[in-house]
Amino acid sequence: MPPAIRVESLEKDYGDVQALDGLDLTVPEGSFFGLLGPNGAGKTTFINVLVGLVRKTGGRAEVFGNDVVEDYQSARDAIGLAPQEFNVDRFFPIEEVLHHKAGYHGLPEAEAEERAAEALKRVGIYDKRDVRFDWLSGGMKRRFMLARALVTDPDLLILDEPTAGVDVELRHDLWEVITDLNDEGTTILLTTHYIEEAERLCDEVAIIDSGQKVTVATPDELTEKGSDTLTVYCESEVGDAPVLDDERIEGVTVEGDTIRVRATSASEVVPSVLRQLEAAGHTPLDIDIERTSLEEVFVDLTRRDEDASDDAADVSDEASDEETDDTGTDERVTAEASR
Ligand code: ATP
Repeated sequence: MPPAIRVESLEKDYGDVQALDGLDLTVPEGSFFGLLGPNGAGKTTFINVLVGLVRKTGGRAEVFGNDVVEDYQSARDAIGLAPQEFNVDRFFPIEEVLHHKAGYHGLPEAEAEERAAEALKRVGIYDKRDVRFDWLSGGMKRRFMLARALVTDPDLLILDEPTAGVDVELRHDLWEVITDLNDEGTTILLTTHYIEEAERLCDEVAIIDSGQKVTVATPDELTEKGSDTLTVYCESEVGDAPVLDDERIEGVTVEGDTIRVRATSASEVVPSVLRQLEAAGHTPLDIDIERTSLEEVFVDLTRRDEDASDDAADVSDEASDEETDDTGTDERVTAEASR
């Protein structure tokens, strides 16, 4: 069985903007896959290429082995999409909107009706079936977007920030619905700015930035990339920062009677740190361990990426300064000639 999504060297430019810049990504069938990235990273463009709303400018993209351009209909029929924007026909009762949608994807009338009712029940708004989209509350609109994505019983459900701006209760309700779908075998691709959402739900997370993949890993693997903080509360003022001999330790700071130790895995260095502090004459009373969150790792990874490109920009600025020096005379000559 081919993966749910496979893209290779995927490119999309909008004029001067390179939204996807050689993206390689594989989403295994049946997985709950998160797509994280700062604003403008290319997440929505990636999704739009998969569903045929945006035409790629280079590379390959397949959904369950179907090329998104050459086998458009097969690829599209496998996907249920809940986009960020409410692009819904607002003048019909919502159940009718779902009938149309199912019919458009080739489901016979009776099955379309059955699936529409089922989808509305699943997201908890069946009692609103005769209401127009415009008259739903904000939370109900989000539920409806999920129902519409589900009505064709897709093998791949793509959710573009499905819980943006919803309250905690609805967020948990939606999490439950999509987790159940995943348990039943539906592959889920989720983009989100709520890192906690990715951490809780996803088997694997891809971080993308500037249209390229930064990394793919499980949420646990990613948090292991960051450093934890071990805080040791001592009986009295500590004075100078103690020298701690352990290669897992990255830094030590002191504030009054409190010592903060940054380490790759704080829980593992606890015995060694306490032993060394006691040997140096301190009396530890209590400790606290703060694990790195996925959010910190995410910020760190994307910032590192920015720093690298800033450095590259600095280098190319320097290079172009040099070029200007070299070509200054020519430029003046050209400018004079064109006057
Ligand atoms: P967000 O998290 O803010 O939704 P995103 O990761 O989904 O961002 P995209 O919406 O794919 O990012 O945008 C990627 C880049 O492409 C951005 O620089 C954006 O301004 C640009 N872009 C997106 N759509 C268009 C368009 N139709 N025309 C021109 N530029 C576009």
